[in-house]
Amino acid sequence: MAYEITRDYIHLGNARSGQRLQGVKFIVSHATGNPGSTAYANRHYFDTRQPSASAHTFIDDKYILEIIPLDEKAWHVLYNKPTDNDLFGVDANDAAIGVELCYGGNIDFNEAYKRYVWYHAYLCKTFGLDPARHIVSHHTLDPERRSDPFDAFRLYGVTWDHFINDVIKTLKASNQSPPQAPQVEDPARLPLKLGDKGDFVKEIQKDLIRVGFPLPRYGADGVFGEETESAVLAFQKRYGLHVDGIVGRETLAKLSEVIKQKLDQEEFPLPNKTLKLGDKGEDVKMLQRALKHLNFDPQLIDGIYGKNTEDAVRRFQSMYAALKDDGIYGPNTRKFMLMELQQKK
Ligand SMILES: [Zn+2]
Repeated sequence: MAYEITRDYIHLGNARSGQRLQGVKFIVSHATGNPGSTAYANRHYFDTRQPSASAHTFIDDKYILEIIPLDEKAWHVLYNKPTDNDLFGVDANDAAIGVELCYGGNIDFNEAYKRYVWYHAYLCKTFGLDPARHIVSHHTLDPERRSDPFDAFRLYGVTWDHFINDVIKTLKASNQSPPQAPQVEDPARLPLKLGDKGDFVKEIQKDLIRVGFPLPRYGADGVFGEETESAVLAFQKRYGLHVDGIVGRETLAKLSEVIKQKLDQEEFPLPNKTLKLGDKGEDVKMLQRALKHLNFDPQLIDGIYGKNTEDAVRRFQSMYAALKDDGIYGPNTRKFMLMELQQKK
């Protein structure tokens, strides 16, 4: 075996019920929500605090640490989520192994990632699973609440497809005789810069477009050309980063942050049309909610664009030299309200 697996189980309690797993039908790939915390730090937390959540295995740059036996259940995906049932006909907690990647802080990502890949291949081999079909991300099962392990991968330029391919390669190598060492290339693919190509470039391009840095000529084509470089420069400038047109850790982290804010803000939608005194309906209500949220209270959230709503819009407009204080909600007012909503998150 290329790596050693350490089995150091936590006590029975909320985190480890001791209930039997109904066989291993798939693997759920996670990354800890706590960057910098090591495998043993996580073990300590689950052992002493016994939260009603857990995973079988925590992996950092030194340990592949199983804290719950693989024939017992861990609580790593909410039961009421339907995707695991749709995909595999069963709840993840009842029939899947939960594997956590520890990253950030002093953890050497390359070393942790290699172990994480190797361990997924090892599980596939042990339980007869197919990496392409039987490994699923936590994000896929719980997209509203979770973005792991993509969020961790992203920071180091690894896509989900990279990861699955690395597992497939490692599994193939382990099936050869004599077994080959894991075939995991150096996973850190950062920084990205002019001339680079590939899936990860495409991901970054899509993100840039999403957060308002369009690529009108080439779009998200997977080629880091001058247009992409200009968009990166503009993004860096806008967010006060080091302006070099190169996508490294800092730029990626900011991009993720802005995307997250955008997702949050989409929970507070604003009508995309002109509204004025006398208008009625759901759109008006939506606007009134946003005004209230921004402390420009329209008094009533009744879906009627009356004097009070008009006044609230006017008060909002008066805060910005670029807006006419006409009390009419239109595209410009919307733009500034979105900006405010984003900052308020
Ligand atoms: Zn997770």
